[in-house]
Amino acid sequence: MKVTLVGAGPGGKGLLTLKAFEVLQTADVVLYDRFVSEDILAVIPDSAEKIDVGKHAGNHPVPQDEINELLLEKARQGKNVVRLKGGDPFVFARGGEELEFLAENNIPFEVVPGVSSAIAAAVYAGIPLTHRDYASSFHIITAHAKNNEKPDIDFNALVKLNGTLVFLMGVAAIGDICEGCISAGMDKDMPAAIVENATVNSQRKFLGTVATLPKIARANNVKSPAVIIIGKVCRFSARYDWFSRKPLRNKRILVVRVKGASKLSDSLRELGCDVIEMPCLRIAPLTGSGCMLGKKLENIKDYSWLVFTSGAGVNIFFDYLIENEIDIRELSHLKIACVGVETKKEVNKHGIKADYVPAEYNGAALAYGLTGLVKNGEKLFIARAKDADKDLTHILANAGVVFDDVPIYEKIRDMKKTDTLVSAIARNDFDFVAFTSSSAVECFAEIATQFGKIKAVCIGEKTASAARSYGMEVYASKEATIMSMVEKLCL
Ligand code: SAH
Repeated sequence: MKVTLVGAGPGGKGLLTLKAFEVLQTADVVLYDRFVSEDILAVIPDSAEKIDVGKHAGNHPVPQDEINELLLEKARQGKNVVRLKGGDPFVFARGGEELEFLAENNIPFEVVPGVSSAIAAAVYAGIPLTHRDYASSFHIITAHAKNNEKPDIDFNALVKLNGTLVFLMGVAAIGDICEGCISAGMDKDMPAAIVENATVNSQRKFLGTVATLPKIARANNVKSPAVIIIGKVCRFSARYDWFSRKPLRNKRILVVRVKGASKLSDSLRELGCDVIEMPCLRIAPLTGSGCMLGKKLENIKDYSWLVFTSGAGVNIFFDYLIENEIDIRELSHLKIACVGVETKKEVNKHGIKADYVPAEYNGAALAYGLTGLVKNGEKLFIARAKDADKDLTHILANAGVVFDDVPIYEKIRDMKKTDTLVSAIARNDFDFVAFTSSSAVECFAEIATQFGKIKAVCIGEKTASAARSYGMEVYASKEATIMSMVEKLCL
């Protein structure tokens, strides 16, 4: 039984500390609040109960005493409780109050610090909070006012400090903040910045002066959460803002994909894209009587080639060997063929080299290549998905190549049609929709209502022709690889 108060950082997945990540992996219950991003929630294991205490009836947060009671109740059930808060748990997050309550009730606790938005917003806007020539201190201030009154801030004292001023919870009070600074004697031309949704790919930043910033923020409809930074160091932002220079900044992309496959989304996020994910298919190994793998492996000596058409297939195949204690040396006589480099990389991870990968990464190219390589009397073992593309087997059969097509896994439809996603698709709220298989296109088509305006980035020709058949505007990647899709998007 323990409660751990954990800082989730400002939003970006990479800004969660390793310690926070580890604590989350062993949590039984996670109580999280409004400023914890979807990316961070995604790292919480499915087995943990997730309780959103940021929203309640009518969008009001759960009252603090109810949160305290919930912490107590779950801890007394002997559970490992994580109280997850945006940024750092001790920076305007009532962490102290919660610890006091736990201490009074003799509940053991620990605290994991987090990267505060106050610091991260400055870093992601290219604003050094301190600078030897311009600011020897920085000050973090809450602009939150009780009962809609003006925030109670001693501007005279603050302005005298001559450091960088960082205001949290200040969107509504931005006018009062800037006026307060000016009336306390701050130069009207003092550089100032506001950073909305800092560190995530929807981040927006606006620069101005302490006199102009309120108008700029209103004109651009800046919303909470945002950090206001006032001080000479803001003038560096124009030069040091590394984040807004990422190649795919301001692009919003829907990635329609197999559950758990995050390579494309991760690469796109790294390039600055705002990625929305739509997991729609689940890979499930065939088991029991539906799986012929065990039976066919009994006669593995009859085959000369082992053929893989996906990374998932490779891993399921080798997992089967491990689970059934089949010695990998039983495969030593086999030559290995892979449809493309990504499949080959998975094979390599098992300490095995591939003997053949076609120049073009698709089933037809693989089949034609094999036709030229397979000798008389040699038989192929094709380990792949159930109902997989027929190009490979048709071409091989027509060429008289002998093979066994052994289904070892299936792709099962598994999508959550959230209202937000459905309406975003209806509005075509994306610059691009990315598809990594033709089955992903089919899943998307179940939800979409219009296709003409959709710009579809597709892995390879098969996926592209599925998207074209719905009338989407198609951008097919040169090669059937994730990297080639990313390159297509960067063009
Ligand atoms: N404990 C948090 C602060 C909680 S107060 C921390 O250390 O960051 C909530 C305020 O934090 C918001 O009103 C906003 O000013 C700021 N904030 C939190 N996340 C933010 C983000 N991603 N971008 C900009 N401001 C953020």
